[in-house]
Amino acid sequence: MPTDKTQTVGRFAPSPTGPLHVGSLVAALGSYLIAKNAGGLWLLRMEDLDLPRVVPGIADDMMATLEKLGFHWDGEVLFQSRRTEHYRAAAEQLQQRGLAYACGCTRSEIAQIASAPHEDGLVYPGLCRDGLPAEKVERALRVKVYDEVISFDDGIMGRYSQHLTASCGDFVIHRADGPYAYHLAVVVDDAASGVNQVVRGADLLASTPRQIYLQRIFGFPTPSYCHLPLVTGPDGAKLSKRDNAVSLAAGRDLTREGGGLLFAALCFLGQSPPPELQHAAPAELLGWGVAHLDVAAIPKTPAPFPHP
Ligand code: GLU
Repeated sequence: MPTDKTQTVGRFAPSPTGPLHVGSLVAALGSYLIAKNAGGLWLLRMEDLDLPRVVPGIADDMMATLEKLGFHWDGEVLFQSRRTEHYRAAAEQLQQRGLAYACGCTRSEIAQIASAPHEDGLVYPGLCRDGLPAEKVERALRVKVYDEVISFDDGIMGRYSQHLTASCGDFVIHRADGPYAYHLAVVVDDAASGVNQVVRGADLLASTPRQIYLQRIFGFPTPSYCHLPLVTGPDGAKLSKRDNAVSLAAGRDLTREGGGLLFAALCFLGQSPPPELQHAAPAELLGWGVAHLDVAAIPKTPAPFPHP
């Protein structure tokens, strides 16, 4: 994507593992408003790397749903499933530089030795760091982390810090029997597309220090980050994706309901669209949102979606 360095480049990067739901609608809207309010580009990337979990036809349905809701992305859609060569080259570079190594540990071996599990999984105790033991086969490629705290200022959540050695240890960038890891792919793709503004759900806040660490070792610039509040079920419980599907595939008549959904999503993001826009067309609601965006009003805490 040809851009000059001062142009804002945001993106929406859904995983096509199920129909677009209210959580992804919030991520699409938040990333669109923040990019467009800065006069920037808004790219679309399908994170379809984990092929067994990808549901055929869902990427097309997501794109059709976004279009019905008035979203227009800039440039071509990037499909991660077509970019394996780039992830392979990045992983090989780290291996050649001695920054990544083959690991033969099973999950249960790690669980036996690891200290208390971290919120995002087990902390890898570094068993294969000095070479794969003769009796083991390679199961994964891990990147070495060092004893340092990675901090960044999130545009919504504020300052966030993580000590990588204490919170995850050397982490996986490729599984021998699976795809390249999300952290590697996201960093390689954002850099390749010139993305300098990442807006996404707060479930990825704790992943960001790992991604910033990878950007640093590759010499990529670090984008700005905004993590949006998560959508919960009505009683504060985890959102059930199926119940909250907003896609065309879920039988929604978006020509009729699209404006109401966008109105609700704007309210969820702390914006105050005038009540007379409640039944406006999607394009009008998006235009209002871009022109009146107040990032400071976006709440930090998870909440249920105010269904119209
Ligand atoms: N594909 C991820 C998801 O759908 C989002 C990744 C990102 O925005 O960095 O949760």
